[in-house]
Amino acid sequence: MKYAENILETIGQTPLVKLNKLTAELPCLVLAKYETFNPGNSVKDRMALQIVEDAEASGILKPSYTIIEGTSGNTGMGLALAAAVKGYKLICVLSDKQSKEKMDVLRAMGSEVHVCPTDVAPEDPRSYYSTAKRLATEIPNSWYVNQYDNPSNCRAHFMSTGPEIWEQTEGKVTHFVVGVGTGGTISGVGSYLKMKNPNVKVWGIDTYGSVFKKYHETGIFDKNEIYPYVTEGIGEDILPKNVRFEIIDGFTKVTDKDAAVYTRRLAREEGMFLGNSAGAAVKGLLQLKEHFTKDDVVVVLFHDHGSRYVGKIFNDDWMREKGFLD
Ligand code: PMP
Repeated sequence: MKYAENILETIGQTPLVKLNKLTAELPCLVLAKYETFNPGNSVKDRMALQIVEDAEASGILKPSYTIIEGTSGNTGMGLALAAAVKGYKLICVLSDKQSKEKMDVLRAMGSEVHVCPTDVAPEDPRSYYSTAKRLATEIPNSWYVNQYDNPSNCRAHFMSTGPEIWEQTEGKVTHFVVGVGTGGTISGVGSYLKMKNPNVKVWGIDTYGSVFKKYHETGIFDKNEIYPYVTEGIGEDILPKNVRFEIIDGFTKVTDKDAAVYTRRLAREEGMFLGNSAGAAVKGLLQLKEHFTKDDVVVVLFHDHGSRYVGKIFNDDWMREKGFLD
């Protein structure tokens, strides 16, 4: 008999799928690393498991502890799988711009959910960063994950996602393009691919309202770059330690509208029912057209599943309200 000992053993080994229509104007082969095949439907399962197992190994996380994290939902789901299998309690702290579906799913998986205002500075005590940190000091026998600065986040992708992409492309990958939030995915995969072949180019997708692109280009953390935006999962108003700017060749910014429109097009034209950052990644790829040539093999990573966005991107009323439908 062939079976996994538990759900955590099914994490990883996701397929690589060719994009056919949306990127037809590009001269190169475009392959999507399709992370919704993970059991929690997102790439974050990989890092949640790595982070928990590294914390267990180092002794910070002990049996029956409470795991606490500030998460836009996908990390929470990954942590919920690990917590359920390994017997930990879980508290997720989210900002109020996150979709209701994400909150409902976390509750369904047994997590306690705290919702904090989005439009406050990260250092404000009401922010979800500050609330998660505070809860970890107040609740005995608890552990604050901190995916932004925890090196196990990046390590998960260096150890699994990066090697999978290298092997699946038989070492032919020339570019890696991906949305950047905590930076774990781009830094872990990017540094692995560059270790195997220093000529691989690594591009980050950023949002309008986020600090990454300007910081990468100028070294300036410009607070004027920060304002509320709609796209979920990518862009930040802080510089997480997991964004290793030195291994990133460049960023391109995608508008909220383009990210939403391309997420819908992925569903209807490629049959790929994906989250908001996937649309941003595809539009970003098209914006980078001049960097690609005929023989290139471009890998783009799709982080999460469309089911978490049915009340938003896939809802015409919501799209109209935001001015995203022409
Ligand atoms: N897309 C989605 C939907 C996400 O949840 C995240 C994680 N915040 C990202 C992209 C960015 O990934 P990373 O945190 O590894 O940079």
